[in-house]
Amino acid sequence: MAGPAPNTLARSITESVTLAIAARAAALRAAGRDVISLGAGEPDFPTPEPVASAGVSAIRGGQTRYTAAAGLPELRAAAAEWFQSQFGLRFTPRQVMASSGAKGALHMALTCLVEPGDAVLLLAPYWVSYPDLVRIARGRPHVLEPVPDQGFVHRGEQIARAAREQGAKGIILNFPGNPSGAVPTAAELRDIVDAAAAAGLWILSDEIYATLLYDGAEHHSPAALPGGRERTLIVNGGAKSHSFTGWRLGFLAGPEPVIDAAVRIQSQVLGNPCTISQIAAIEICRGDHREENARRLQAFDERRRFLVEEINRIPLLRLEPPRGAFYALVDARELCASLDLDDVALCEALLEDGLVATVPGSAFAIPGHLRLSYAASTKEIREAVARIARFVAARAT
Ligand code: PMP
Ligand code: GLU
Repeated sequence: MAGPAPNTLARSITESVTLAIAARAAALRAAGRDVISLGAGEPDFPTPEPVASAGVSAIRGGQTRYTAAAGLPELRAAAAEWFQSQFGLRFTPRQVMASSGAKGALHMALTCLVEPGDAVLLLAPYWVSYPDLVRIARGRPHVLEPVPDQGFVHRGEQIARAAREQGAKGIILNFPGNPSGAVPTAAELRDIVDAAAAAGLWILSDEIYATLLYDGAEHHSPAALPGGRERTLIVNGGAKSHSFTGWRLGFLAGPEPVIDAAVRIQSQVLGNPCTISQIAAIEICRGDHREENARRLQAFDERRRFLVEEINRIPLLRLEPPRGAFYALVDARELCASLDLDDVALCEALLEDGLVATVPGSAFAIPGHLRLSYAASTKEIREAVARIARFVAARAT
């Protein structure tokens, strides 16, 4: 008898390209190759000491048992306060739940919201996991083409048209955007929310990069806009702001009936997110980390400026300054054309011959581009840029 086989849906799900590239870079390094990874976006800073200590104290104090499925009541209360103090958003603790990372929160939300076959709008370039997360929830992702001439911020009318044509039920927004770094103005976001409201779409707003803003950019949540609050689920957390990636803890906030349903699903699927991480997350929400966060933001900004300057010195590469997050979306279409390679093959060659790991734009539905994460150390970024410049000089004659 043949052994068990994955079903049709499972066979159609791809591995996260960002995580696959990070794993490949790590394997090459383990094999003795001197690879620099600007692949997965993960801050190089350690988890802040008070947050790490709260986790250690939880272990030592025996706080290692199951919690309520939605998370500890104290964490839900702390997270509600955090949404208010950081973003001016009012939620009751019952409108906030903890999950295993922002990914867990996205999955719980989509599992609650999507009916089989529902179209969900994704704005390219989108974060790599959205299409498969929608498919896992039995939805149908529909991708809107990138709008580089609009700073990667779609207009309401473009969304309205796609919603009408597809009979869409929801949309995923991600500002500041991964991989584009796009941050809409308040007016641009209002235009998007108005279109979503007119089309009756729910909004899943992934705001995991909300505190990483440059050049005076400001974060606005769709939930803070008229007509936005009642249709928006927010995903946020400390993964990027507090180097909390490996602790696997994120938040979902929004209307109570959806949160209640997401909690019921989570109770069956996960039980609860890691108890130790929940206790450390209370410190993220309640502690005062402004000084440390400002230092980190300044470091990201310096790296961002360095990259914009240096990448634009390299022939055949262009980089518009990103306004948020920690990614540089490099336009490599001229380089691809000159080498007669697509972006996937270019990334492969850069990794094998240039020893720099990057992510091909195709993974985000923007072919001909490369995503560089500048959450790596300044030293690594400098060396990586020098290697990219040498690679281009040697190959593109
Ligand atoms: N959303 C976006 C836009 C991301 O870039 C990431 C990558 N970490 C996530 C969600 C997932 O975050 P987490 O590690 O908290 O699951
Ligand atoms: N979100 C990060 C990235 O886009 C981390 C990897 C992942 O979770 O996909 O690189």
